[in-house]
Amino acid sequence: MGSNPGEWLFDYGGIVGGDSYASDFIWDARVIDDPSASSTMLGFGVLHNEDNRPNGSLKKRTRVESCAAPDLCSIMDPGKPPKTDKFAILSDATRLLNQLRLEAKKFKESNEALQEAIKNLKADKLELRDEKLRLKAEKERIEQMLKATRTAPQFIAQPTAATLHAYLITHFSEFQLATVGTFLIHESVFFLSGLPSIYFERSGLFSKYKIQKKSNTSEAQEKCIVRLVLYHVCVNLPVMLVSYPTFRFMGLRSSLPLPHWSVIISQIIFYFILEDFVFYWGHRTLHTKWLYKHVHSIHHEYATPFGLTSEYAHPAEILFLGFATVVGPALTGPHLFTLWLWMILRVLETVEAHSGYHFPWSPSNFLPLYGGADFHDYHHRVLYTKSGNYASTFVYMDWLFGTDKGYRKLKAVEEVEGKNY
Ligand SMILES: [Zn+2]
Ligand SMILES: [Zn+2]
Repeated sequence: MGSNPGEWLFDYGGIVGGDSYASDFIWDARVIDDPSASSTMLGFGVLHNEDNRPNGSLKKRTRVESCAAPDLCSIMDPGKPPKTDKFAILSDATRLLNQLRLEAKKFKESNEALQEAIKNLKADKLELRDEKLRLKAEKERIEQMLKATRTAPQFIAQPTAATLHAYLITHFSEFQLATVGTFLIHESVFFLSGLPSIYFERSGLFSKYKIQKKSNTSEAQEKCIVRLVLYHVCVNLPVMLVSYPTFRFMGLRSSLPLPHWSVIISQIIFYFILEDFVFYWGHRTLHTKWLYKHVHSIHHEYATPFGLTSEYAHPAEILFLGFATVVGPALTGPHLFTLWLWMILRVLETVEAHSGYHFPWSPSNFLPLYGGADFHDYHHRVLYTKSGNYASTFVYMDWLFGTDKGYRKLKAVEEVEGKNY
């Protein structure tokens, strides 16, 4: 037997091709198991010994074959006396040879089948090796993810952003997070931040900080809520589902590690500036006669705005607002975490701008160039052709393009009268 497990199979291949070697082939397992019988039973022991001599002659072979005949007969017809008829012996030998050929043919076929099986096993082995490498890479990725989540000090009870994000990406697909997840975060932030101003208006709480003296009726507030829920489910959610491939194409990712805070902050500042620019021109266009009458007037139904009116608009305007919000992220291809943070800040900003309340702690008192509630409330209470203040977040676009003149005059008058927020 050769060193290769498959080689012995080939060894038998020679049997088929050459009759002279047929006698080397052990054709009965019982014979193989009995070493004492292997040569004598076959009757070739003497033959081998004779052949080992150099230049063994045909004459000798012929003599030996006659000696082998009894043994051959004992194999072919066990228990019967050896045949003496040469033709009978020759016939038996021929029969034996044919049997050996058949056996050899079977073994050759068996060998080929085994070779094929070995080939398949080798292919399986390669596949398993690839799978092993893939699993190894996956294991390393998960270990890195776990390492990133363990960076928070143990004494911090609340989960860090990375821990929370790791939980989300291991339990949900990116598609689920980017679509339904984004929708649920938006709804939660929007309604939780918008409902307090309705409560303040109804209860009279913080009335000294209310910008307008007028208040909305309960019916008007409820109508706003019902329509918002309807639009959010029928417009916002389908748009989020459909736009996911576009975000993927633009480079959206959700894997850990999270981007560095400096990247997140700089991207979000860029989104605010770009959104404000796009919103300014879009909003200014919406205040042209036809667009205002057919689209934007719905948003202006509430001359005394409250937080939730920020997204109360015609579906076409909702799409425009959505476009202005996602244009920045689409250009930079953000991390999903950055996208969510940006959306949360943008929602809080627009809800605050429509809240109808200017508190001492309102962000416009601290952030330079920030518009806030007082800036946008003016836009809602003045006739649409004269309102100005079209920007969403900052005040510089209206100042640059001269669309805040009315508001600045009013502020100057209020300052003279001693009104100071
Ligand atoms: Zn407007
Ligand atoms: Zn508005």
